[in-house]
Amino acid sequence: MLLGKQGAGKGTQAARLGDHFGLAHLSTGDMFRGQAASGTAFGLEAKRYMDEGELVPDEITLGLVEECLAPGGPLDDGFVLDGFPRTLHQAMELDRVIGDHGLDLAINLEVPREIVLDRLAGRRVCENCHRVYHVNMPPTVNWTCDTCGGHVVQRDDDTEEAIDRRLELYEQETVPIIEYYRAQGMLAEVDGVGDGDDVFDRLVKAVNERFPDDTA
Ligand SMILES: [Zn+2]
Repeated sequence: MLLGKQGAGKGTQAARLGDHFGLAHLSTGDMFRGQAASGTAFGLEAKRYMDEGELVPDEITLGLVEECLAPGGPLDDGFVLDGFPRTLHQAMELDRVIGDHGLDLAINLEVPREIVLDRLAGRRVCENCHRVYHVNMPPTVNWTCDTCGGHVVQRDDDTEEAIDRRLELYEQETVPIIEYYRAQGMLAEVDGVGDGDDVFDRLVKAVNERFPDDTA
């Protein structure tokens, strides 16, 4: 499980870890979209909230995660979880769902507030194809998308004020999870600052240190 602030690079790194160790990469965003597409009850319910730009309620998120981790799936073969749990309640429910399989390792990908604030506040997104840019790495021509020619803009929820609110929520709701896993001796802390390849190497090292006998 990869924990960390929004903008810490969890999604990208979780996907790379999944490839490296041959594990399924489970992100709640992808789970929501996948189950909405296959028309499960929880999936359709979650889509309704997302379409209206609202947060998906806890019990629906839990239902989706529980369906994804049903016997015969990633629970048997191993997985990297990213974007979940977000609250202590979800963490405890996850323990119940995983049951005897047990969770192996929770990694806190640590990136200071100022850095994620800069990454997120500087983010610009193509309205059309959703390609992501940064004020320091803009498209070649005047905020016109290099890929599709669409307008590249700042999303409403990427303003400094909105990001501040999300980081505040993270402190209140998600930081207690880090303490929860630390108390169980399951936490590894990894420095998430710097080049993506360096961060990835640190993550692989943290996993290998935890499981010295089955180094991938
Ligand atoms: Zn585009």
